[in-house]
Parts: sequence; C-alpha cells; structure tokens
Amino acid sequence: MSARILLLPGDGIGPEVSAEARKLLEALARDHGLEVTLDEGLIGGAAVDAAGTPLPAETLDRAKAADAVLLGAVGGPQYESLPRERRPERGLLGIRSALGLFANLRPAVLYPQLAAASTLRPEVVAGLDILIVRELTGGLYFGTPRGIRTLENGEREGVNTLVYRESEIERIARVAFDAARRRRRRLCSVDKANVLEVSELWREVVERVHVDYPDVALTHMYVDNAAMQLVRAPKQFDVLVTTNLFGDILSDEAAMLTGSIGMLPSASLDARGRGLYEPIHGSAPDIAGQNRANPLATLLSVAMLLRYSLNREDLARRVEEAVGHVLDRGLRTADIAAPGEPVCGTSEMGDAVVSALSEAA
Ligand code: NAD
Repeated sequence: MSARILLLPGDGIGPEVSAEARKLLEALARDHGLEVTLDEGLIGGAAVDAAGTPLPAETLDRAKAADAVLLGAVGGPQYESLPRERRPERGLLGIRSALGLFANLRPAVLYPQLAAASTLRPEVVAGLDILIVRELTGGLYFGTPRGIRTLENGEREGVNTLVYRESEIERIARVAFDAARRRRRRLCSVDKANVLEVSELWREVVERVHVDYPDVALTHMYVDNAAMQLVRAPKQFDVLVTTNLFGDILSDEAAMLTGSIGMLPSASLDARGRGLYEPIHGSAPDIAGQNRANPLATLLSVAMLLRYSLNREDLARRVEEAVGHVLDRGLRTADIAAPGEPVCGTSEMGDAVVSALSEAA
C-alpha cells in the first residue's frame, strides 16, 4: 500500500529545503521502489497569511490522515508582533500535541568529512553517531501545579512540577530500546536518581523494560555526568534516553558537537510509529530565498522518516550513503564550507544527493 506523506514547507528557508525533499522522495518513488503519495499543506506564518491561523483545521486533518509529516521550518521577523496564539511557532506546538508525539529522536552525527566544523578536536568527534531519545509530552514542562503565586508575606514563588507515570516512562523506554536495536545495541538512560524520586522510578521502569531487550546493553548515568561526558568523550554513546527537560538540554549540547545546524534531522513519534520529521534548524530568515540554505538536514529527516515510519531501512541507508558520497566529492553549502572552499546552492546540493542515490547501498 502506498504511504501517505504530508509536506508542510512553512516559512523562510522551509519551502526551499522542502522542495529538495520532494525531489528526493520522487526520485525514490521513480527509481527505488518507494510507494508513496505526496500531499502538501500550510503551517506557520504561511498559514497565517493564507488562512489567518498558524495551524488550519485542514492541515491537522491531513496530518492525522498521513503516515508521516515532513516539516520545513516556521517563523520569521514579520510575525513576531502577532498575538501569541497566532504566532507561527504555535502551529508547530499545536501539531506536535494534536498528533500525540511523545518521543523525540535527535541524532547527532558528524560526517568525518566535516570534522573541522566542530569546536571540539577532530579526533574527539570525527565519526560521531549518537541518538538522543527525549520524552516530549510529560515531565517538568507539563506537570501541574504550575505558575507564580504570592505567599502570605507578599513574596512571590514560582512552581513547576516534575511528574512521570510508569506508563509514560515505559513507552519512551521502549522507543529507545527499539532504536538501539536498529543501531549498535547500547542504551544509556540519563537521570538524577541520586536526588529525585521521579528519577528513581524512571530507573526502575527502564530496568523492567530491559528484560524484554536482553540483546541491548543498558547503563545509567546521572545527567550532570552525561553533560560532561558528551564533551569529554561523546563517541562512548550510542543511544541516550531521558526526560523532557534533560533531553532538551542534552540534545542541543549534542547537536553543537557537530558544529553544523544545517546537517541535523529530527523525528517525533507517536505510539504507532507515525511521526513528524523536521530539520532542527529554524526558518533562517537571513538567508531565505537566496538558494543558500543547506538542505541536508531535511534530506536526512527524509531518511529518518523512511526508517521509523515507513520501515524502509534499506532506503534510509541509501539516502544517508548518498549524502556521504556527495560530501566525499567535496560539495559544500556555505554553512559547512571551510574558509576559501567553493560553495554550492540549495538546489545543486539536492540534485547531487538525488544523483548519488544510484551509487549508494
Ligand atoms: P535558525 O535556525 O533559523 O538560524 C540560526 C542560524 O543558522 C542563522 O544564521 C541561519 O542562517 C543558520 N542556518 C539555519 N539553518 C540553516 C541551513 N539549513 N543552512 C544554512 N544555514 C542555516 O534560528 P533563529 O535565527 O534563531 O530563528 C529564525 C526563525 O526560525 C525564528 O522565527 C524562530 O522562531 C524560528 N525557529 C523555528 C524552528 C522550527 O521551525 N522548528 C526552530 C528554531 C527556530
């Protein structure tokens, strides 16, 4: 049966990088046996302009009907004065919660060809390939009670609540163990069990789920140590799983190990493995419309989509290898070029990946 993919290009460089993703998906359908139907919808500022709201009901209906959604980026300076509920970012938060996307997968991969882009020494990061699995819909960001209240003596107090149910921990642990199985079969669960009761429960539940995955090696690490180890010796990790708050911080730290925001994809999955895939970068208004954006983060998001929602590991690898070939050949957009190196445009990079598909896998 043909898989249904909804493309949501969004704003700024979003439409430019999404156009390259469409080219890639069409080439995979034409030449490599992918059965797919592509649909396109409005989100973010583009939806505000056309329909007065950042997440039109029609977009949400189509997203729910799709097997996977591929998003470009949303936002831009022209929308910053809008009331909060009409801001482009609201579209993104809205679609994530409406689709029940509780698992956020953020790989940090540093292609050896780009090791010089990191602020860390090349030998520390060259060939880095880690995956952070972050719980996305629970924990400190959603727990109640929350708010700022005034005490009897007139002093104000801020309150947030860290809360996780066993079922929430179990489902994110399963996603992480499953992901580890597709990789090097090592999972590190990150918590703060020396201080937090929630973390004690987290550890216990992760251990319990481990019984179903005896082929995956499980370790635990405190979050402060994990933050340190990520810059000291990041290649020790395969998959990390953690809470919403810790994952938010550690995934940005891991992303920056690679030094190039234009290279990093992400996936957010629901309980059935349907997902929203997007580059981690924003709409980059400073370079929008100039054919300068690096489309590789979006093309690598397509690879994740093929792997996690369409179960096409073969095609996911083909895309990732095609990206490797193109980098081997020395093709660079401006964000990943060394000083003085010649640079190519968004569409040239996309075309090169499409041509390299037949050399890959
Ligand atoms: P940004 O990621 O858009 O840009 C940061 C810097 O990285 C810019 O200099 C930009 O030119 C560069 N950059 C980003 N992606 C690139 C790519 N693919 N190729 C080459 N260079 C790239 O972050 P920002 O400037 O903080 O935010 C701009 C807008 O994007 C804001 O409106 C923000 O709210 C929005 N935003 C959206 C998302 C999203 O859609 N998921 C994420 C972050 C920011």
